[in-house]
Amino acid sequence: PKPDPIIVASGVRRTFGGIHAVDVEHLEVQRGAITALIGPNGAGKTTLFNLLTGFDRADVGEWSFEGQPVHGRTAARMAAAGMVRTFQLTKALSRMTVIDNMRLGATAQRGENVLASLLPTLWRGQEADITARAYELLERFKLDTKADDFAGSLSGGQRKLLEMARALMTRPTMVMLDEPMAGVNPALTQSLLGHIQGLRDEGMTVLFVEHDMHMVRHISDWVVVMAEGRIVAEGPPETIMQDQAVVDAYLGAH
Ligand code: ATP
Repeated sequence: PKPDPIIVASGVRRTFGGIHAVDVEHLEVQRGAITALIGPNGAGKTTLFNLLTGFDRADVGEWSFEGQPVHGRTAARMAAAGMVRTFQLTKALSRMTVIDNMRLGATAQRGENVLASLLPTLWRGQEADITARAYELLERFKLDTKADDFAGSLSGGQRKLLEMARALMTRPTMVMLDEPMAGVNPALTQSLLGHIQGLRDEGMTVLFVEHDMHMVRHISDWVVVMAEGRIVAEGPPETIMQDQAVVDAYLGAH
């Protein structure tokens, strides 16, 4: 397919003390593709993810989303523009029901700062639509029978499904997934991978952060390898896997 980047970034840097957590010269993320951001611990994956989603500020750098310059925008504004991210199920979210977690997703990424008791004021008369959308997604992710359970009672894999479902409440064009397979048993891993492919099949752009190349190679269209803040390799998964120097230096033996 012809290149059609939804994100174009250049000169993005973020330092913590003396550490260059992210030092990315150039990055493009293709529209409608699944892109995996991988690399060893401390490579800067999470930091780059936080910058692009508006959860952290770059020291310098520029990037666009859908052709609009968006560096410096907050997460809420990114969500309004169509880019959402997943949130891990925190303590506060665990104490809410599954259906309320979903409703919270409709408030566009203000997430855990919002108390459940404030939800009715945030919905502004859209309760019926939001609730219908929430149940529709719970059904798709096979969580509908859990709607009234506390999110904290879900298994590791079900939590990951809930995180993904919650992110879809605002009908995004791009979904950013934070370690979508972490701590999930093999049976549910297949189901999660299938759901990620499903997002792409619907036309969404997906970018996710993972440690394990082997887990993601079958669903990724493009792999970006980070180490020490930089992009050290990128390409289709087969190409990356065949690059023994990259595999040995950055991806480890499995
Ligand atoms: P992991 O796979 O372990 O999650 P990562 O690739 O996501 O690693 P980052 O978490 O982005 O890597 O970290 C990149 C570097 O920046 C590391 O050296 C880390 O210690 C440092 N770092 C990240 N966040 C902060 C912070 N808030 N304060 C200080 N240093 C930080």
